[in-house]
Amino acid sequence: MITKAEIFYLNHIDELMKLNYFIYKNPELGNKEIKARDAHIDILEKKNFQIEKEFVGIKTAFKATYTSKKDGPKIAFLAEYDALPKIGHGCGHNILGTASTGAGLILKEFVDELGGEVIVIGTPAEESDGAKVDMAKAGIFKDIDIVMSAHPTGEFHMESGSSQAMEAIRFKYYGKTAHAAGAPHLGINALDGIITLFNSVNAMRQQICETDRIHGIITNGGEAANIIPDFSSADFYIRSSSDKELKILSERVKKCAEGAALATGTKLEIENYEYSFKDLRTNKKLSEVYTKNLKLLGIKDIKKGKKAGSTDMGDVSYCCPVIHPSFPISEGKLIGHSIEFAQASITEKAYEGMKEAILSMVMTSVDIIKDKNLLQEIKDEFIKNKN
Ligand SMILES: [Zn+2]
Ligand SMILES: [Zn+2]
Repeated sequence: MITKAEIFYLNHIDELMKLNYFIYKNPELGNKEIKARDAHIDILEKKNFQIEKEFVGIKTAFKATYTSKKDGPKIAFLAEYDALPKIGHGCGHNILGTASTGAGLILKEFVDELGGEVIVIGTPAEESDGAKVDMAKAGIFKDIDIVMSAHPTGEFHMESGSSQAMEAIRFKYYGKTAHAAGAPHLGINALDGIITLFNSVNAMRQQICETDRIHGIITNGGEAANIIPDFSSADFYIRSSSDKELKILSERVKKCAEGAALATGTKLEIENYEYSFKDLRTNKKLSEVYTKNLKLLGIKDIKKGKKAGSTDMGDVSYCCPVIHPSFPISEGKLIGHSIEFAQASITEKAYEGMKEAILSMVMTSVDIIKDKNLLQEIKDEFIKNKN
């Protein structure tokens, strides 16, 4: 039997496919997603959503709201649409955003009768300075009852899992140039600062948790082999299973950096070069409802959620109940951040996965609007896990 949600979905599928393909064909880096932003707004505006441009002061962000005349929960879908350098939509944010706008359009068809408010928020730059961090800091999620978005992945649906809290730290060492053969004793080698830092971090790895990750690159290692480098720098990502543990781990890495400066006589500067992300705290009750609805759609093989990697959805999950499950876009395995991943995001299989994710997000929303106790259970869990 075809459900109401499926009928509504069929009414929107053409414009959703067009939106996905357009964004795939026009990849834009974080905070430069002008075409993608306008394409989302165009569709939502035509369907009578109230549009707030440059939401929270971010040029390529937006908020689209549809409020029904009846009271009810506020349910938000977050649309990402940033691409990656050189590989375009290798993370599939074209289809992630399309799924969120799709869920918003379809849920809107229900709320006049059932009550509530539907919100689609355009959240730029997930791959770098995630806009959700600014939005969380501005407190915009505090009066929203539920937030959902679904990420594309390889071959299976995956429940909403957790992600690693992450800090992006840059280490800069300053020394003094000298002729590397003629007068090396008069120089202070900034590159030695960086090399000692890497060695100290590597020695520390034996005493860190399995869920911790420390990975860096040297971004400046000197100018010429015959000059003692007076400047060198490295960019690191440091990740741990929770925000609290991340703070401890970051401090340990910073101590390694300070020790390296002391050992080499260099001067050290430490700064954050991108936003830090909190870990994702999936609301288990909300996730159960989403998974139940996937099963109602006939999907049997649903895998447990991921643990590795980081996302700015983490910051949202500290503000209100959140799920961030994944839907399949390919018949086989896919490597994230690859050209193959981008190509998979416009295939028939991708549209099948997207449809299932959209329908399940909409059915979950309808369940919550209809059942006040369910919403209360979800909120109670959020409050209990808040600290
Ligand atoms: Zn990514
Ligand atoms: Zn992604």
